[in-house]
Amino acid sequence: MGQITLKQVTKSFGDVQVIPPLDLTIGDGEFTVFVGPSGCGKSTLLRLIAGLEDITTGHIEIDGKDATDLVPAKRGLAMVFQSYALYPHMSVRKNIAFPLKMAKMDAAEIDKRITNAASVLNLTDYLDRRPGQLSGGQRQRVAIGRAIVREPAAFLFDEPLSNLDAALRVGMRLEISELHERLKTTMIYVTHDQVEAMTMADKIVVLRAGHIEQVGSPLELYHKPRNEFVAGFIGSPK
Ligand code: ADP
Ligand code: MG
Repeated sequence: MGQITLKQVTKSFGDVQVIPPLDLTIGDGEFTVFVGPSGCGKSTLLRLIAGLEDITTGHIEIDGKDATDLVPAKRGLAMVFQSYALYPHMSVRKNIAFPLKMAKMDAAEIDKRITNAASVLNLTDYLDRRPGQLSGGQRQRVAIGRAIVREPAAFLFDEPLSNLDAALRVGMRLEISELHERLKTTMIYVTHDQVEAMTMADKIVVLRAGHIEQVGSPLELYHKPRNEFVAGFIGSPK
């Protein structure tokens, strides 16, 4: 579970088409990174997949079923926001439980899922604290925990580490990669950072002005960039 297919997807804001017709398949269990310069459409594409924006034309399929018109909650995907999206007045436990309570899950099941997520993320001793009493890395883990408990078919990350300092970013990068190893769930990770893309991805999608320049593994893109733009972005030798 967790294959996502975009078929001839376009997105316009008013008269401006920011995503020209785009086809892409994201394989079940794959760690896919969308990379490209600021304004190239990475967030828009992720939001279209999540259902947070309506596509203008085309289709989105999740596990072979048409999801084009499904509301976000029905897609079975979980968006991981930057840690500042946590509720400051709620404990870690309540922050993580929030999406499950909204879905009216029963309390025993919620407790079980929180216990599991806290153990995976090393947050067991912090469940009764508030976000303000945690480090930046711990807060980011809580944001990830809020996605894990939903047991999604795919995790969608939009530059989750961009407001962390450089040292913490490296650590969190490893933690997210390890989480992918452990869960083997599809992850789509948006970044403008080449190093993140090269170190984390199974598959990199290089975007430029809303279209795909090239798709491939980090090694393929490094050794066989299709053009100067990809070479420059990936840092291939000239
Ligand atoms: P990225 O995440 O790669 O930096 P975005 O997806 O945020 O890029 O933006 C892609 C393009 O779409 C940009 O030109 C941006 O200005 C435009 N855009 C994004 N969201 C909106 C919106 N809600 N209304 C109008 N234009 C938008
Ligand atoms: Mg963005």
